[in-house]
Amino acid sequence: MYRIGIDLGGTNIAVGLVNDETFEIVKKKSTPTLADREGEEIVEDMARLCHEICDELGININDLAGIGVASPGIVNPNTGIVKRASNLKFFYFPLAEMLADKLGVKHVPIYTENDANAAAWGEACAGACRGSSTSAMITLGTGVGSGIIINDRILSGSNYAEGELGHMVIEFGGIPCSCGRRGCWESYSSATALIRMTKEKIEECKAAGRYTSMMKAEKINGRTACDNMRAGDEAATEVYNKYINYLACGINNIINIFQPEVIAIGGGISGEGQSLIDALTPIVDANMYCGDKARTRLKIATLGNDAGIIGAAMLRTGLRS
Ligand SMILES: [Zn+2]
Repeated sequence: MYRIGIDLGGTNIAVGLVNDETFEIVKKKSTPTLADREGEEIVEDMARLCHEICDELGININDLAGIGVASPGIVNPNTGIVKRASNLKFFYFPLAEMLADKLGVKHVPIYTENDANAAAWGEACAGACRGSSTSAMITLGTGVGSGIIINDRILSGSNYAEGELGHMVIEFGGIPCSCGRRGCWESYSSATALIRMTKEKIEECKAAGRYTSMMKAEKINGRTACDNMRAGDEAATEVYNKYINYLACGINNIINIFQPEVIAIGGGISGEGQSLIDALTPIVDANMYCGDKARTRLKIATLGNDAGIIGAAMLRTGLRS
């Protein structure tokens, strides 16, 4: 059977037709979100792309097994209403109902979910967490996004705002966060945080008259410290180790809270691949409360930018091993 997954981002609306046996995205289309416009226009574009994909493949849209939308913000999957999404004009927005209306479908179920939760569901169905009934996915990007799967279900929380692991405090009284607290994990473990630490170290070296090859970087990004560390630069190694320790601290907190079978790491920093896992593992192992062999495995997420589409398409289907 075929399903459609829609990944609504702040920049692009990505729509994909997914084979729900193989999890393959058969066809994908996208269009700019243009986040400043009214929600109704965004939904019209979603519906248009769904119809275009089905028409081009000769599929009757009414034959789809389901259509799922991954949306930013606080999403109630039972009502299909987005309570709010900070980067879109969504405020108690009836996303599922409006999409059904614009699509003109009657019997195709339409599901909605928070985007980070949908990505975690995608990894649980078809990616790094496949075969595990309890898992977490963290995305290390501008912030730290996250989704939690417990006993084959997305953990939503009583108010559907659950899964904000990036906002657990790991440094009391630490760096101010956009959420209003201080010392949140995402202020130390996002790509943004790594860039900040890199810049701080370069300034520290300059002030101390110490050379670091990071000074030669034209633009500081999330790879600057990693690349220079691999080239043997001492200051870069210090930045990377500090970052890894903060990242590991939050990972140990997650493990201590609910002992997932797998934690998948996605986002820009996960491009470091196995070396990131290898750096984290000894620290996480040394600090694990339950240090037996059935320990939580750390993995790099495998679906990349497709996790949202696949996760949205597969909403309300069961996990398969
Ligand atoms: Zn915060």
